[in-house]
Amino acid sequence: MIKDLFHTNRPTYSLEVFPPKKDADVTVIYDALDEFKNLHPSFISVTYGAGGNTAENTFAIASYIQNQCGIEALTHLTCAAIPDKLFLTNFLTNLYRNGIHNLLALRGDQPQWMSDEQFAARYYDHASDLIQDVKETYDFSIAGACYPEVHQEAASLEEDIAHLKIKVEQGVDFLITQLFYDNELFFRFLDKVREAGIDVPVLPGLMPITSAGQVKNIVGMSGTKIPEELAKAIERYQDSPEDLKKAGLEYTKKQMEGLLAHGADGIHLYSMNKVEIAKAIYE
Ligand code: FAD
Repeated sequence: MIKDLFHTNRPTYSLEVFPPKKDADVTVIYDALDEFKNLHPSFISVTYGAGGNTAENTFAIASYIQNQCGIEALTHLTCAAIPDKLFLTNFLTNLYRNGIHNLLALRGDQPQWMSDEQFAARYYDHASDLIQDVKETYDFSIAGACYPEVHQEAASLEEDIAHLKIKVEQGVDFLITQLFYDNELFFRFLDKVREAGIDVPVLPGLMPITSAGQVKNIVGMSGTKIPEELAKAIERYQDSPEDLKKAGLEYTKKQMEGLLAHGADGIHLYSMNKVEIAKAIYE
């Protein structure tokens, strides 16, 4: 189980993949996993579509990671995709009996096709409510999400951390952060998390910027700030894709070095099925 990896006091190095979209070639992800395996990550996490439209793929991919690659798989699951307790029990049983004993419990966001009423009526309001039921069902290693730059819906960092504390007290074994590019923000967040008495490992989540087009998506999705140094590099190389990729990777490597020097519990790389990117960072 992933929680046991933290007893060694060595940082973990993890990757994240996502199930291919409907109609896409599903073999691509399995080829990528065969290559990720050779990088010997501590674990690989598999995302879950907020509306549940990737459920079968998420399960199949997590099972491949755990049972064919021999690497701990961390399956994401969102409240937004759970209609009732029976669904949860079936999903967890399927995971557990297939040797997958790690779950990232999330609330998820409102999918485009879901009405406000449907989203508001979800069975579990928050990740903390979901965790409570997971805990009562099986012995999973449970991860939660956290936000160094504050979750968009929280009124303040203090409020967000107070909610995070509730989540951790329900049984979170470790946390993974939203992606960020400014280590100082992470260090400040970590200080506040520790001051609040949250003492589980916190894994910083990093995603290298490898193309100019990616920036708008990343900022839109996560609300992260792009520090001046990185913004200048993006501007300088916007017409030179190869140089931009190199600069983006260099930036992430520097970020990693800073985090590890500061004693980070691990590094979670939002590798998003990109073998070339993961290899460059791991090497
Ligand atoms: P929560 O912990 O429920 O928090 C959501 C908001 O509610 C916050 O503002 C918080 O302050 C507040 N809150 C929390 N608990 C309480 C409480 N008890 N009472 C009142 N308020 C509370 N999305 C996907 O759809 N699929 C994925 O696979 C996926 N993977 C992710 C992986 C990571 C590492 C991260 C950081 C995010 C991921 N997301 C994913 C996005 C995530 O679903 C969204 O960010 C979502 O908006 C919040 O999820 P959460 O689990 O952090 O929610």
